[in-house]
Amino acid sequence: MLSEQIARQHQASVGKILDVSVVVPVYNEVESLPHLIEAIANALSATGLSYEIICVDDGSKDGSDQLLKQQAQIRTDLKAVLLRRNYGQTAAMAAGFNYGRGKAIVTLDGDLQNDPADIPLLLAKLEEGYDLVSGWRQKRQDAALTRLLPSKIANWLIGRITSVKLHDYGCSLKAYRSELVADMNLYGELHRFLPALAFIEGARIAELPVRHHARRYGQSKYGLWRTFRVLMDLFTISFMKTFLTRPMHVFGLFGLLSMISGTLLGLYLTFLKLGLGQSIGNRPLLILAVLLLVTGVQLFSFGLLAELLMRTYHESQGRPIYRVREVIGQNVN
Ligand code: UDP
Ligand code: MG
Repeated sequence: MLSEQIARQHQASVGKILDVSVVVPVYNEVESLPHLIEAIANALSATGLSYEIICVDDGSKDGSDQLLKQQAQIRTDLKAVLLRRNYGQTAAMAAGFNYGRGKAIVTLDGDLQNDPADIPLLLAKLEEGYDLVSGWRQKRQDAALTRLLPSKIANWLIGRITSVKLHDYGCSLKAYRSELVADMNLYGELHRFLPALAFIEGARIAELPVRHHARRYGQSKYGLWRTFRVLMDLFTISFMKTFLTRPMHVFGLFGLLSMISGTLLGLYLTFLKLGLGQSIGNRPLLILAVLLLVTGVQLFSFGLLAELLMRTYHESQGRPIYRVREVIGQNVN
């Protein structure tokens, strides 16, 4: 497992042969796709950079997969990764990251709500020395009550909890240095927390206003339910931020404090009993002392256990969260 992970990181740093990989998660976007692929290709050809477009079909039922498959066979700049079923946007993006061969990775939605013409601007910003450039949909074209409001609240909360200050965490249009995403593991709705995760790992992050259009084809895959899932992921993130690396530092500290105060109280009571001959059997302080001692030992051992768990967690991370059915186009690897 570990060697697999190291191999992947190694590949991430030396094996990149293109300038840019554009990763697009696709779920039932058959009408948008032809326009989207054209627009991305136009935007990138103009820059003279070498690029590939990686469309990850997330188990579409409207024929997006067939269209991608057919396009990938005739276009040299397109790679289609077809997942076996619908795993969700985050997993689709993670799959795209794994197949990307570009030194920079750009992500955007498959519904043309993000504007491919913004990609060169993000890349230019990345070149200024950032590890991650996040799009900011300044004039967002989505429903006010069901989308903009929950998103405003979520953005505020995420900002507070993760200590990364961005205006718009939910914008899919982002550019990354490939090393940054190579060792990130994504679950749930975690893709919107990539800046936060990256920040925890010490990345330099910039934000750039980008265009946003109303959906022209198909319909949004999300409703209010997502807000709840994002909130749950937020808890996970804040938990990971505190405990993931060194749980013992937190639990061990409280355990130790509790044990020390329990011991001091116990010594004081022993002095009262042995030194002054007082009766201590009916004192609430005795109960407190015992409680503090027991709690202390518990917390301390819990910290040690958590350390072991986290170690297992870290070492088992070579596991992908998706299963690929088929990859078509370009020298498949
Ligand atoms: N998407 C996906 N898997 C899913 C749901 C969505 O790959 O289970 C893709 C979808 O095709 C689109 C992007 O994720 O490219 C964002 O989805 P959508 O536009 O519905 O979200 P919204 O813009 O409404 O937030
Ligand atoms: Mg959309």
